[in-house]
Amino acid sequence: MAKIGIVKVKLDREVNCYVISDASTKEAVVIDPGLPADKIAEQLNGVTVRWIVATHCHPGHVAGKDDLKDITGGQTAIHGADAKQFLRSADRYLLDGDELEFGEFKLTALHTPGHTPGSICYVVANHAFVGDTILAGGIGRQMPETDLRRQMMSIGTKLLKLPLTTALYPGHGPATSLERELAQNPIFRGAGAGAR
Ligand SMILES: [Zn+2]
Ligand SMILES: [Zn+2]
Repeated sequence: MAKIGIVKVKLDREVNCYVISDASTKEAVVIDPGLPADKIAEQLNGVTVRWIVATHCHPGHVAGKDDLKDITGGQTAIHGADAKQFLRSADRYLLDGDELEFGEFKLTALHTPGHTPGSICYVVANHAFVGDTILAGGIGRQMPETDLRRQMMSIGTKLLKLPLTTALYPGHGPATSLERELAQNPIFRGAGAGAR
């Protein structure tokens, strides 16, 4: 089994960008290309960037994508609903279940609307890159276009289908796991109270 490398790059607005690479082929994807793009490029260490993808199109998560494309030659990808909402373009518009290959790995896009209409969580092996859909101990800051009910539904129907041991890499703050969030995140306490 090929080995996967995950490097977190802290960007402006406290956004976490992630560089995920196949350790043997040195092919990589970049998730959430905010600014400055140079800071992401410095962390690439000789990998070939195949894909530059955003979890959603709030500026902090996507503003550096074209600069990073110029530097690396990677293809950009976002969900069409966010392209429309935020007037952004990309080389490819993703749909739920789409797979992006890098080296021996495939990054699977799960459409998880709510925080924004085109929010996506990306899954590879035992790792999920969840943007602002869920953070350690909370969720991303609600914006005018956020639909909280839809976001909770996405978490319930998409993220909770993943194995409990799945590591979660949010768009802000520390990494966590599905199991830990189920135990500590207040959003799940609300669901429990409703069931009583
Ligand atoms: Zn956001
Ligand atoms: Zn954010």
